[in-house]
Amino acid sequence: MYATAFLDLPPLTTAGGTVQLPGSKSISNRVLLLAALSEGTTTIYDLLDSDDTRVMLAALRDIGCTVEPAEQPHSVRITGLGARAPRSPARLFLGNAGTAMRPLTAALALLGGEFELFGVARMHERPIGDLVDALRQLGCRITCLGNEGYPPLRIEHAHGVPVLALQAPIRVRGDVSSQFLTALLMALPLVATQQDLHIEVLGELISKPYIAITLQLLARFGIQVAHENWQRFTIPAGSRYRSPGRIHVEADASSASYFIALGAIAASAEGQNGIKILGLGLDSIQGDIRFVDAARAMGAQVTGGPNWLQVQRGRWPLRALDLDCNHIPDAAMTLAVMALYAEGTTTLRNIASWRVKETDRLAAMATELRKLGAQVEEGADFLRVTPPARAADWRAARIHTYDDHRVAMCFALAAFNPARLPVRIEDPKCVAKTFPDYFETLFSVVQTAPQHIPVICIDGPTASGKGTVAALLAQRLGYHFLDSGAMYRITALAARRAGLSIDGAHEARVAELARQLPVRFDGARVLLGADDVSDAIRTEEAGMNASRVSALPAVRQALVALQHGFRRLPGLVADGRDMGTVIFPDAPLKVFLTASAQQRAERRYNQLISKGFRANIADLRADLEARDARDSTRSVAPLQPAQDALLLDNSLLTIEQTVEQVLAWWQERQPFAPRAPG
Ligand code: C5P
Repeated sequence: MYATAFLDLPPLTTAGGTVQLPGSKSISNRVLLLAALSEGTTTIYDLLDSDDTRVMLAALRDIGCTVEPAEQPHSVRITGLGARAPRSPARLFLGNAGTAMRPLTAALALLGGEFELFGVARMHERPIGDLVDALRQLGCRITCLGNEGYPPLRIEHAHGVPVLALQAPIRVRGDVSSQFLTALLMALPLVATQQDLHIEVLGELISKPYIAITLQLLARFGIQVAHENWQRFTIPAGSRYRSPGRIHVEADASSASYFIALGAIAASAEGQNGIKILGLGLDSIQGDIRFVDAARAMGAQVTGGPNWLQVQRGRWPLRALDLDCNHIPDAAMTLAVMALYAEGTTTLRNIASWRVKETDRLAAMATELRKLGAQVEEGADFLRVTPPARAADWRAARIHTYDDHRVAMCFALAAFNPARLPVRIEDPKCVAKTFPDYFETLFSVVQTAPQHIPVICIDGPTASGKGTVAALLAQRLGYHFLDSGAMYRITALAARRAGLSIDGAHEARVAELARQLPVRFDGARVLLGADDVSDAIRTEEAGMNASRVSALPAVRQALVALQHGFRRLPGLVADGRDMGTVIFPDAPLKVFLTASAQQRAERRYNQLISKGFRANIADLRADLEARDARDSTRSVAPLQPAQDALLLDNSLLTIEQTVEQVLAWWQERQPFAPRAPG
């Protein structure tokens, strides 16, 4: 996850490859409970790993289900209760998971036993009274332990299974939360052995697509529920839960919309057929799958099978659309960004509900689309988008994201603009609500020309602080980090271990070794093959040896490709001696960092002491002056500032001040319009 203040997306050109999307939260918890109520063992694949599913799994264990990890990641095997009674008494902590609290209350109240269900403070403010009332009508004994109508709850049946009044239709309100109806629909099949059971919905049922998901999942577990116009539901006599054996949790269909749009917008990467999406098929039970129809209408070529979709660019530019989006409110935001790539004006209608989501999405989308250069008309319940007329009319924009995951995700697609402008996404971590690794997933399937991937070079003499500064900069920008000195340090170490001279006698062999260096950076750890060499390469001796191998032209040449390989999306901060002069001569920002020899010796001294090494300032100063002399006078890539480098003497600056200075230079070079005051 990118926890940076902003994330700059370089202009992107092509896309290709496969993405696996995280499982849908509401389907995950429904499937877990249905598996727990069934006869037999169910293997559940692609389960979402979140707080809400974790509390559900713990509760199912507590009531006596067997929960085991299955062989694949994101999968579990659950052996359900079948005809067994749940283990009781039990106290179940359900966090803030409404999708666990509501259906577990209903199921346990009907099955009988003694249970206490509670959660975090916020959960105790979320109403459950309508469901409790419906269950009390049936004869269940439920006590609200705090406020009437809210958790925590106690379910009591000291003498086994309750005697239930099942003849009359069970009435439940449908206009507060559809989860009450879902809870009853999942619980009542447990007691529909002798007779048909009827549920009547009071008030207009909201969120019908979610009830449709419940009915579809019930069918997968052997229960066929009939309904009349979503107001009266019938669970047939003789219903019994049976495990389907294996079941895949679908990916979230709204999350899929960004990758469907990506396939429609981006030219396919060479040798690829667009984007393959795993975890969701055309037969999806989620209402938002109908986004596919809208994407097709705009030009996307979409094919699919069970649990996969394949999307390629078809008609280009896209075709503008005039669409009632009431059935796909979340995914329709993605259409608004696709409209930037359409010929003509796109109108999205019947989206008044956008105004009461995470933010006023109608206003937010209009504001941010305008920043990119689009003409936008914002109505009470519609949005009309006309893209920039020519490439030159696009603007580089900072996209404000309003703590709304979907705003952040859909505007990332603006990086395919024909003007080749970067796009800044502010507060990128807001995607964590449904898709923590959204940007990582995006970067794994999009490409751009290397020259579009920004590199910030921090060169300078030893102990100038460039390593620390570069690492911090990379962290602040969400960029990759290349410590090129480590390459020479590792090469020297590997050469010594192989018994090779590092002074030139074995230049060709050392170069060969360098070309095939099995080096891997794992956070702060440096691995050479399976060996953790993080400490071994940080000694003074290792630095001196690095300086010696680095004077060998063949070795420097051998390490070029390895260093270029670090230039990956979304960007790179590289530190060394020749980053700006030799390795990344086209870098948009080059900094040459220096400090007085005395200052640098003192910093190195403090560094070594803090790691428990012994040191002496005078010796260190002599060493680093010797190293500077060798690095600056060698015949190949001598240490010197690039012509276009900015010099920064940080003798009197703290690390943080140095980082701020470089960041300020970096910001000045960005094409984004200055932020409006206030
Ligand atoms: O930066 P660090 O002290 O880790 O570098 C170790 C040695 O590697 C330097 O003294 C220098 O001789 C060499 N080096 C280089 N070119 C780079 C980075 C390091 O020659 N880009």
